[in-house]
Amino acid sequence: MPQRIQTDVKDIEAVLNEILNTKSPPVGRCRLLSSGFSPAHALNITEDISGHKECLGCGNCIDICPFLSREPSRREKTESRTSMALESTVGEDCDQCDACILVCPQVDTTIKHYVVNHRMLEVMSRLGERIGDEDEPDLDLFLEEALSQN
Ligand code: SF4
Ligand code: SF4
Repeated sequence: MPQRIQTDVKDIEAVLNEILNTKSPPVGRCRLLSSGFSPAHALNITEDISGHKECLGCGNCIDICPFLSREPSRREKTESRTSMALESTVGEDCDQCDACILVCPQVDTTIKHYVVNHRMLEVMSRLGERIGDEDEPDLDLFLEEALSQN
């Protein structure tokens, strides 16, 4: 059975913040800090992977990454859909948006809650600083589209 006791963020807060403050894809390291597979997963797998934190190669982190969305030529450098592929294609160009953490089925919900409750203001302010930057046309477009839907 999948583990139901997830990592207590208080025990890992310092190292977690160090990971989140580093300009590099954070999902792989957040996965390693996690206690196991989410008990509520709905993937159709037969093997018992409880208590492990391996990358499932589901590609969620690759699909959600805004940097790879802006730079499809980088994404096309590999067919692999793992966190290692994310790290090799994004590297230090990571936007530090933390989206890859939120979509990974192998990252504990406790860590995701911490990111949403304690880090989102910082993420939004980082993205806000880039609005109007001529090098970031897609961010402007994204915001215009989001606002027009309200
Ligand atoms: S840009 Fe966002 S989704 Fe892409 S690797 Fe960095 S934190 Fe993850
Ligand atoms: S989202 Fe999927 S591919 Fe990315 S690190 Fe998590 S398990 Fe691996």
